[in-house]
Amino acid sequence: MKNRDDEGEIRQKRFAFLPQEEEEGEETDWTSYWKLQRDTPDEDLDQLRERALQCDECALRETCTQVVFGEGAADSQLMFVGEAPGGDEDREGRPFVGRAGRLLDRIIRACELRREGVYITNVVKCRPPGNRTPYPEERDTCFPFLRSQVRLIRPQIIVALGAAATQSLIHPEAMITRMRGTWQEWAGVPVMPTFHPAALLRDPNKKAPTWEDMRKVMEALKGDE
Ligand code: SF4
Repeated sequence: MKNRDDEGEIRQKRFAFLPQEEEEGEETDWTSYWKLQRDTPDEDLDQLRERALQCDECALRETCTQVVFGEGAADSQLMFVGEAPGGDEDREGRPFVGRAGRLLDRIIRACELRREGVYITNVVKCRPPGNRTPYPEERDTCFPFLRSQVRLIRPQIIVALGAAATQSLIHPEAMITRMRGTWQEWAGVPVMPTFHPAALLRDPNKKAPTWEDMRKVMEALKGDE
């Protein structure tokens, strides 16, 4: 088990592909980092979950059955972030439990990991009507919950599943077909964008590139052993 105090050294070793040093005259934009630090500093993950379950900050709560907060290991090194709950998730109150969820389970097992050992959540915690893509304003309203989840779990790597997660974390106009497979960074956390499992169900040709992306994630994680 890694010591959190060693994280700086671990990150430097494992994520040498990310910019480590500022060029002379350049300054790091710490805005996101400090936002991570400032969010409800006394709240733990259970309290955050309770607060999310009571949330009615956007109209999605009017039509969904329940808030789907996320689940998994609270100290996981790996966090998967999807788009929003679908019908199965809305019924069960758990993320990624439908067909796409079963495929994500297989991906996790292929990475020699257990579902219980990673953390799984979505950008938006309530199901959009008819499983439509969440609107940018809905993603923005819900985003503080994801930001706090990352602050509390402190994953070593985030896998952004699909366009919505990538756009929320990296850039609002990010195209998943172009950005997938390339290391990005959000608030100091390395992010690997890849296809959403639902996209793999629609187009099996996306399985091979997704596997390539996950191999990069596995290699980076193994650097921590
Ligand atoms: S989607 Fe997020 S912000 Fe909107 S009601 Fe649900 S938990 Fe609250």
